[in-house]
Amino acid sequence: MRYIIATLASHSCLQILKGAKDEGFRTMAIAIENKVSFYKRFKFIDEVIGIPDYKQFYLLENRLKRKNIIIIPHGSFVAYLGKEGDEKITLPYFGNKKILEIEADRDKQHDWFKKSGLLLPRMYKNIEDVDKAVIVKYHGAQGGYGYFLSPDKNTLKTKLSKNKSLNSKIFLQEYIVGVPIYLQYFFSPLDNKIELMGIDRRYETNIDGLGRIPAYMQSKMNIIPSFTVVGNFPIVVRESLLPSIYEMGEKVVETAKEIAGPKGLYGPFCLETVVTSDQQFYVIEISCRIVAGTNLFISGSQYTDLSYGEPISTGRRIAREIKKAIKLKQLDKILD
Ligand code: AMP
Ligand code: AMP
Repeated sequence: MRYIIATLASHSCLQILKGAKDEGFRTMAIAIENKVSFYKRFKFIDEVIGIPDYKQFYLLENRLKRKNIIIIPHGSFVAYLGKEGDEKITLPYFGNKKILEIEADRDKQHDWFKKSGLLLPRMYKNIEDVDKAVIVKYHGAQGGYGYFLSPDKNTLKTKLSKNKSLNSKIFLQEYIVGVPIYLQYFFSPLDNKIELMGIDRRYETNIDGLGRIPAYMQSKMNIIPSFTVVGNFPIVVRESLLPSIYEMGEKVVETAKEIAGPKGLYGPFCLETVVTSDQQFYVIEISCRIVAGTNLFISGSQYTDLSYGEPISTGRRIAREIKKAIKLKQLDKILD
């Protein structure tokens, strides 16, 4: 029986389904009703199913069970179904759900990175320990919305005393002065190999808009920097940085087996890093699924060009892994 690759209609849906179609699968998008007509514009989507809201996804599951569906999770699954909602999905799912627990917990992520020997910004459990500029984050903040910076401990204390409700939910991290670099990887359990799929940086408002305002105006306007993503730029790094990029990806995959069971981390994932002037990669966060920055490379990236003689997006790479697993009768290796 033919398999259908399905996903929620947002985030990287177009890339995923285009890639699935290019690999010969039937495709399905599950869309909020007012987005159905938009997704119907694309010929590579065979079926668009409308639901009134994301919570209705579970009601749909029974109906979909009769079809041969494989669900590809992306950023909207965690954002709109929540971690528990994501774990609750009973349809065959491309990814290890055990990783979701670790990914959602900044302390567990930190331990994972440490175990992997990666360079990390310092985390402060106690405000009194703050001795550098910090970035203040919230647990579960989406797309960096509401983060703020503080140059020192006293400014931080003043800011927090003005909004006491924040105190219990915050997460204090050393602010690394450098450039943000997002490394998009794919780990194939079938080939036992890590691949670099592309590199990007985000276009964030209003932090990326601040530089457009002269300093004399900035000082009078009292703008609070925020990091809400609106898009992405492609990046090609100095070639001499590539060996350490591969090494970081390999280490993370290796240690994932110790913390998330034998399947560990597989498929697409992304390390969010800040690179300093001495060319050190500080790892800020990990996304254990396809990230939206891969949408830049629907026709392949400079890096996939080096490995494949044809345009391979991350979405298409996922479909190719599934196709290979079907052929080898090893779907259990890549589905949860
Ligand atoms: P959306 O499909 O735009 O509603 O986004 C779903 C989730 O993915 C939200 O948590 C967004 O913050 C996140 N997201 C969407 N696009 C991007 C992007 N280009 N970079 C990073 N995160 C994104
Ligand atoms: P995140 O929500 O972790 O993706 O972070 C949102 C934005 O804040 C991104 O532009 C990051 O590069 C930036 N950022 C997060 N943590 C740090 C840090 N410790 N030092 C410097 N920039 C950071």
